[in-house]
Amino acid sequence: MTEKKNWDRRNFLRKAGQATCALALGGLAYRVIGQHMNEDTAGPRSKYVWQIDPEKCTNCGKCETLCVRTPSAVKAVNDQKKCSFCVVCHGHISDNKIARDQDVNDGEKICPYDAVTRRNYSGGKDGYFIYDIDHDKCTGCGKCAHACTEKGTKSMFLIIRPDLCLSCNSCDIASSCPEGAIDRLYMGPEDDFKGIYELEGMV
Ligand code: SF4
Ligand code: SF4
Ligand code: SF4
Repeated sequence: MTEKKNWDRRNFLRKAGQATCALALGGLAYRVIGQHMNEDTAGPRSKYVWQIDPEKCTNCGKCETLCVRTPSAVKAVNDQKKCSFCVVCHGHISDNKIARDQDVNDGEKICPYDAVTRRNYSGGKDGYFIYDIDHDKCTGCGKCAHACTEKGTKSMFLIIRPDLCLSCNSCDIASSCPEGAIDRLYMGPEDDFKGIYELEGMV
């Protein structure tokens, strides 16, 4: 793999997270990953990681079942830099009558597993609403990302979490993805995937 190709590939990883200014984190990447490594189960075993190109992915749903892991190593994330903090989030709920001051509601949730959470950031009626994805519940089905892409700001999208991925020599999703959206990227010490995807608080 040439240096140029490495750069191009890593660039889409960075673009996906919309966090180009937050990458100067040096050796933190390997410390963070190392904490989550379990050599018998998952975690990056090489400098290369499988990743999804959000520009090509159509959130078709195959990532949920094609991964050799159950639940899938694929998870949805919400890029807060692109999110509009809407009262009604298309990736969260289809009920457009949700009240401003409601944190929990009875509307029809987009996520079948109730993994998209809504918080009123300021606590007041006119506050910002923060939408997060609970990765303990998320199966990578892509429904929230699809709805956000169709009707919202495209702030929700799917990633392969490097700390959950088994780094299979041939990723089953990559070989079946109808869009050819998955590729293997070089991940160097300068790449902090949790920073890229704003997963700092995640265990
Ligand atoms: S299989 Fe491909 S197009 Fe479908 S959700 Fe996965 S990465 Fe996206
Ligand atoms: S809708 Fe699917 S991809 Fe989105 S949070 Fe729920 S399980 Fe994850
Ligand atoms: S490399 Fe293996 S574990 Fe990782 S996403 Fe692909 S199939 Fe799943």
